Amino acid sequence: MALSACGGPATIGPSPVAPPAGTVATAVPGAAPRSGITSIVVPGVAPELVTALLFGAPPNDNPHALEAWENAALRHCVGPGLDVDQVAAIVASGAAVSGIPAAVVSSDTCDVRWVREAGPGCGLHPCTAKTVEGGRITAATIYVPEAGRLTEAGLHELGHALGLGHSPRRGDLMAVTPTALDFSADERAVIAAVYR
Ligand SMILES: [Zn+2]
Repeated sequence: MALSACGGPATIGPSPVAPPAGTVATAVPGAAPRSGITSIVVPGVAPELVTALLFGAPPNDNPHALEAWENAALRHCVGPGLDVDQVAAIVASGAAVSGIPAAVVSSDTCDVRWVREAGPGCGLHPCTAKTVEGGRITAATIYVPEAGRLTEAGLHELGHALGLGHSPRRGDLMAVTPTALDFSADERAVIAAVYR
């Protein structure tokens, strides 16, 4: 199945900041603040892939320090026109990789919103916008204009909502034009390095 190109992550709020040199973390304890981290070593994973996924890499994303949630759990809201059960399954898949408990909630108070709308500048392509404050992701909206695109794009967009950029590897879920439907082993290792 050929999947459509992704509009990529958009950041709302402060502009991406080029990482200052010299901030390196080899491990990120789960509860530690993640702001200001500009490099993470993930054993067994090529540094170029880590950089592309977590710190932005041309031509897709501007260089930036780590952007990650610091929440103990993530609440997801599903807007009209999207299948709640389908989103819940995607959310569960993401939680299994990140280790952050996540659930679809029915209240309006949530961290990640899934809406059947066109994202700013994204046309009919699913895309994700994040609010980032000092490296901490505080909110995200996943735009899926066509409900039928949830299957092919939902987990990729959730990856953006978790702070991932695009992978330069064509077989990865976070490739700009993904053909995969699940995270690769290297992608899982990178996510785990951030959140576990
Ligand atoms: Zn994308």
